[in-house]
Amino acid sequence: MLNYAMAVASAGRASVMSLDEERMRELYFFTARTLETAHPVPFGALIVNTRSGERLMRATNAVARENDPSAHAEVRTVRLACKKLRCPSLAGYTMYSTCEPCPMCMANALWARLDRVVFGATIADANRHCLQIHVAAKQIARRADMACVVEGPVLRELCCSLFTHPNMQRAFRTWSTR
Ligand SMILES: [Zn+2]
Repeated sequence: MLNYAMAVASAGRASVMSLDEERMRELYFFTARTLETAHPVPFGALIVNTRSGERLMRATNAVARENDPSAHAEVRTVRLACKKLRCPSLAGYTMYSTCEPCPMCMANALWARLDRVVFGATIADANRHCLQIHVAAKQIARRADMACVVEGPVLRELCCSLFTHPNMQRAFRTWSTR
């Protein structure tokens, strides 16, 4: 009986993981579209209904495009999603991000009451190419009063390829390094 319960639990876990991978792959392709534009970015975010999986909003980083240092993909996606719902709470929703959210984005995800945050590449992966603030998203979630499950890395290699794409590498050379 115990073995059966464990098998069901692990099968359930496996299907959750593959669903996460499916959505991360979709987000990867959405984010990769920026690589052919004047402002390539490796950062994209997608918010879906946790229970139904219905997509609510997605966006990419627009710091350069909008001259706004807070225009990270995760912050923009939460902002647009809340505006669409006409509600400041995203309880019942899950956010996917091609990269582990920085402390600003993770704090914003907590304030937004997101159920889950699933990321692709890690902060350390991103730091090989651009500046980062070295506090893990899981660490920020642990210190918060709000409950949010942080999971990742998911499809890490694929998400890392956004950073190593030649067009992205060329763009990184124009990014501020201090
Ligand atoms: Zn951020």
